Amino acid sequence: MAQPAMLMAEGLTAAALADLPMADRAYLESELQVRLGRYDHVTRLPNRLQFLEQFENFVHDDAPAMLVLVTLAEAKHYNEILRALGMAFAEDFVRAGAALLGSLLDDDVAVYHVSVLSFAFVLPVDDIAEIPGVTARIAAAFAGAISVNEIPIKTHVGVGLLPIEAIRPAAESLRAALVAAQDSRRTDAGLSFYDHRSDAAHLRAFRILADLPHALSGPNQLSLHYQPRVQLKSGRCHGAEALIRWNHPELGAISPAEFIPLAEQTALIGPLTDWVITTALQQNRELLDAGHDLRISINASPVNLSEDGFDEQLLRRCNAVGLAPRNVELEFTEGTLATNSARTVQQLKRLRSAGIDVALDDFGSGYSNLSYLARIPADVLKIDQSFVRPLKEAGDDDFLLRHIIMIASGLGFRVCAEGIETLHAYEHLRELGCDEGQGYHMARPMPADLLTQWLDAQPAI
Ligand code: C2E
Ligand code: MG
Ligand code: MG
Repeated sequence: MAQPAMLMAEGLTAAALADLPMADRAYLESELQVRLGRYDHVTRLPNRLQFLEQFENFVHDDAPAMLVLVTLAEAKHYNEILRALGMAFAEDFVRAGAALLGSLLDDDVAVYHVSVLSFAFVLPVDDIAEIPGVTARIAAAFAGAISVNEIPIKTHVGVGLLPIEAIRPAAESLRAALVAAQDSRRTDAGLSFYDHRSDAAHLRAFRILADLPHALSGPNQLSLHYQPRVQLKSGRCHGAEALIRWNHPELGAISPAEFIPLAEQTALIGPLTDWVITTALQQNRELLDAGHDLRISINASPVNLSEDGFDEQLLRRCNAVGLAPRNVELEFTEGTLATNSARTVQQLKRLRSAGIDVALDDFGSGYSNLSYLARIPADVLKIDQSFVRPLKEAGDDDFLLRHIIMIASGLGFRVCAEGIETLHAYEHLRELGCDEGQGYHMARPMPADLLTQWLDAQPAI
């Protein structure tokens, strides 16, 4: 029942309310509750706010209960429905899902519409380790398609189960049940209990993203290591790749292979690449002052190159620290060309014409296609480690390597092999005509001061 105070906030006095017929009054109250944010406007079901408020009624030590969360589709799938069929139809889809769900549940089960695509309800159970029969029926009913305005629409339903426990607050219970529902999409039965082991990965990802801004603004957590790149014929080191390192005060060392892909999903990749560029240019300047004229490679993420002005900024910053463009190289991966490819290609071309080398990283690891190589705006092609590391002794299969090197050289690229771990690989690649290489056989990535020492110790060539 709505409070008089709420109604009066809508401009109705208590006396005027009392004069309304019962049906009008009930309608008015439900309308007000929708407007006051307690019901979902699409399904008119109680929303997340109400679930959170009423959650404590479900927690009883002596009466075990199960929180069930049903999510109709993945966001990507929902967006496809939105794009293809429009918003009104997408809302019909959600309403049809809610109706089907309601038809499978007893009348006394309250269903809450807790997010655009998710519904939650609580079932009393005898055994919290057992799957309630009705949830298996729900998973089966949603498997395949549901009818929306007589059109069969595929759902990607997830059903998550979480035994209710007093120690887990309402919001945390909902989150855990959602994780279970997402996990359930990977199971045959289409439903899944909450499993804290799979959830640990979600929590870690969240923590990493939450802590990254602090790491970026402080002086101690992030650093760059440099891995020498050598010319295979002469053995001379002419450059190094800057590789970011994160030493987290509590989680310890976090690999860039873990946090870069996470940062790439957020706006944090912008400031992160900024930090890498600033640090790499500064340290390269110091190396030059110490007598080492190197080309430092910087890894760029797809988003960086699709942002307007990235090229000009890099050139300006090079200039500002007194480095020539030939002292810098930019690495990008094939995936980069898939995002806003026109602007990306334009920026890569601009950088190359200004004298900054561009390298295609990890060639062969993605959807590599030899026939499109000719159109790639790059000077260097870095062959992915997966082709190089298996090369351990004479007779090891080099069929693909041999042909990639031949074709790439024929197209005018300098070819660099990544992951050279043995003397055999080094010599064999040199014989195959590979120009440059990087790998543990020559040197592991190291901090800038150790790179200076390492360079000082190299024989003069
Ligand atoms: P990548 O750019 O392909 O870098 C090469 C990776 O191979 C580095 O891993 C390097 O330490 C490792 N490596 C080099 N030689 C060998 C070898 O002989 N054997 C083996 N097993 N590994 C070798 P790392 O430093 O962990 O970086 C992983 C990836 O993270 C990089 O792959 C790159 O994609 C990304 N990354 C690193 N730093 C940055 C950065 O500053 N910005 C961006 N956007 N990405 C970065
Ligand atoms: Mg790289
Ligand atoms: Mg690479």
